[in-house]
Amino acid sequence: MVFTTAHVGPWSTSLNWDLRATRFGEMRLPFRQYVHSGQNERHPSDDEFHRFLQLPTELQQYIVSFCDPATLFQLMHVSFTTRQKAKKLFWSDPTTRYIIDGQWLLAGGHPRHTNDNLEALTHMQYIEVDFSFYGSVFVMEWKEGGYYTDIREGEDQRTVFWMALRRRFPRVTDVVLTEGNPNRPETPAPERATQLATGSPDGISISVSQLRWYSDTCICPSSRYLWRRNRSNHESPTWELTETSWNPRRITPPNRKYSGLVGAYQLLDHNDMDLAELDNARQIHAIQATVAYYLHVRQAPCVCPFPLCGMQFEQPDELVTHYSQEYLWSIDHDGRVPLPPCESLRSAFERHDASLELKRQRLSDEMARMKAAWGEPGSPERSTVSQQFLQQLRNDPLYAGEKAPEESEIWFRYQRDMIGQEHPPIY
Ligand SMILES: [Zn+2]
Ligand SMILES: [Zn+2]
Repeated sequence: MVFTTAHVGPWSTSLNWDLRATRFGEMRLPFRQYVHSGQNERHPSDDEFHRFLQLPTELQQYIVSFCDPATLFQLMHVSFTTRQKAKKLFWSDPTTRYIIDGQWLLAGGHPRHTNDNLEALTHMQYIEVDFSFYGSVFVMEWKEGGYYTDIREGEDQRTVFWMALRRRFPRVTDVVLTEGNPNRPETPAPERATQLATGSPDGISISVSQLRWYSDTCICPSSRYLWRRNRSNHESPTWELTETSWNPRRITPPNRKYSGLVGAYQLLDHNDMDLAELDNARQIHAIQATVAYYLHVRQAPCVCPFPLCGMQFEQPDELVTHYSQEYLWSIDHDGRVPLPPCESLRSAFERHDASLELKRQRLSDEMARMKAAWGEPGSPERSTVSQQFLQQLRNDPLYAGEKAPEESEIWFRYQRDMIGQEHPPIY
């Protein structure tokens, strides 16, 4: 177990380096860190555990009901008697949302196109289906006019989506459909999401959510609206705004098994995305550290740390909001967020930044290795590797999809990357 949460400096901020963030600054924690949370790193001894198992079942269950997710997850693997109870509690926590790629379900939820472990999905009850264009493998191709994707339109699309969702999430009870693009505060529930909801099966609670502009130009990750569908009138359901700062604990599901050449490529692609989300989170951490620095050390109004800006803010939250806005729209805020002058904080970030650089280097080495194996056009290497890739798509059930291998999105993407340009920089 690695301790990745650092408590740094004279402030109350703690830096959880395991967090990932979207480009809007919304944080997510990968499943493996969620169930192995370093803060609760005290495992019961065998002896303690033996005594626990001697307690009457009701008492055991009572105790288990107070466990945090990491402990519950351990209990799910050690004892038969507590397993069922722990499992039930673990997956039915309504404050935790598993983030699922909406484009994947729109494309039929086939094994080929997901990074998620399909078995784990079958236990989930509370999910947030995310349609933001960032974070999805389908996205760019889909946005550019639909080539090389398996996504359909209209009612057909809704049917495909809900069938896939039911098949992959047989235990789901509560679904939030999350719209990718932000909108103004006064506008109603997003139309695309509410339309998609019309095809939903009975017995599942449906909500939709969308980020709202905080001011005229600016998005703030804490201003996510949530509407819950009211189905008392079955024909024309209404949407009731129930929250204006919806921010659950967001968890990304455990990863799938990556096998063969297709798996190697998919893992590389996944790690690339993961690094981008770590980069985003690093920026948010730096902004929060800056806020904490002005609040607790300087006890003065916050100043934007970018040298070309230097704007001053009376309310600490305003800096966070300011950064979310400038990061998206202005070149003055490119690059890494400069850190406040505190040695322990700076060295913690230095170590973290070095580990991100190492990941970046490994990814680029791996990409270079894969490109070398792909060979020149017309070469025997090229032909062998192509056949290997397509054959796996054809035969490996872990990579089953709807389209023929030659027309599949992952084959298209693989070729593009092998020929291709480096991925665009993150910042
Ligand atoms: Zn552990
Ligand atoms: Zn600024």
